[in-house]
This record gives sequence, C-alpha cells and structure tokens, in this order.
Amino acid sequence: MTQYLWNPPAPAAVAVRGRTDLFPVHRLYFVGRNYMAHAEEMGNPIDKATARPFYFTKAPQALTPSGSTIPYPPGTQNFHYEMELVVAIGEGGFRIRAEDAHRHIYGYAAGLDMTRRDLQLVARDKGRPWDLGKDCENSAVCTEIVPMPHVVIEQGSISLAVNGETKQSSDVSKLIWNIREIIEDLSQFYHLQPGDLIYTGTPEGVGPVVAGDHITGQVAGVSEIALTIGPAE
Ligand code: MN
Repeated sequence: MTQYLWNPPAPAAVAVRGRTDLFPVHRLYFVGRNYMAHAEEMGNPIDKATARPFYFTKAPQALTPSGSTIPYPPGTQNFHYEMELVVAIGEGGFRIRAEDAHRHIYGYAAGLDMTRRDLQLVARDKGRPWDLGKDCENSAVCTEIVPMPHVVIEQGSISLAVNGETKQSSDVSKLIWNIREIIEDLSQFYHLQPGDLIYTGTPEGVGPVVAGDHITGQVAGVSEIALTIGPAE
C-alpha cells in the first residue's frame, strides 16, 4: 500500500442532488468572455467569425460550496462576483464533436467565478497570467450538481442579486459559444475527464462586493446559489 509523508487531503468533491455519493472533481475550467454584453463591458467585444473561445483554470482546492461565508480575500480592493452555469462532465473524451457533446454531460450546477478584478486587469494589461486575479482561495463557488445526463441546456434565465438587489439578469441562450461548442473546442486542447467542471462564462453586470454582502443567484431549471462575504482575515 502506498505510504505518504502525511495524510493527503481528500479529493475535491461536490454534492449531487438526490444522491449521497459525491461528485469527485478532476479539473476546473472557466470560459472567458462568453456573453457579448459582458465582453463589451470588459472592453473586449467578440466577433465570433474570427474569435476563438479562451479558457483559464482554477485549482480544485478553490471550490467552495454554496451557502458558505468566505473571508474577503487578501490583495484586492475590488472583489467581483460572476454568475455562471456550470457543466459537469461525466464521461471523458478528446477531440469531441459538437454533435456528440451531450454524451459527456453528467449534469449542471450554478456557480460563482469570484474574481480579484483589480489583479486580473493588471495581469491582462501587462500580458501576465491571470492566476492571482482568478485562482483565488474560495473563488470557485458551486451548488450541488443536478444530474441531467446527456441533456444540453440551451436556454434559461441566469441571474444574480447582491443584498436582494438584482445585478445580473440574462439568459443562457445568449452564450456566444454554447455548451456543445465549448465541449468541442475545449476537448481539442485537453483530454476531458469525468469530474471536470466547466464554468461557462458570466453575463453582464459584474461588480464588487464588500464584507457583509450576501450574494444570491439562480440558473432556471438548475439550482440556486448563495454566498456571504465575511471580513478580511
Ligand atoms: Mn467567469
């Protein structure tokens, strides 16, 4: 039996609706700029005819369950919410065709891609990696996964409120690259594995939160998410 110097941490995992078994997480992928109005608000409108989707990742250790209270993170003065639909991969694949993408879907969750926006924009403008801005502790918030095997979500409202005031309100039908296209494109670069989670991008209306704020959000037909921002450590 393999021996380790100390007990390795349990694998990152997410609850599954209606099951006691957990969804063991492999990797966390995030699609950048996947709603036109958000791309525009960030100063980078997309021409799908010439653009390709792009991605960043977070360590699975960044996962935080919905309902948590997280400390306001270090190193930022501008901590932002991004409400997203999350695709849970149940069957791995490489160079998946869009028409076959549904076969790889286990289900969906609602997610928050919490972002140190000031650090992300410095990195973006200096051509540096986005890790300090994006791969921040507690920054990949996720609800339980709703099993919807082989279902491709093509529409449904996606919204977020801070302290009850609506900040984001859009529809999954406005994704620039839809679920099938994301799975096809991402799998050109990576061997997708069971347990991968793909955060599909946020609509417009991103903005800051401060200690004491309470975020609520929902993806219609999937799940509702909540997060409370506590004081900085
Ligand atoms: Mn995002």
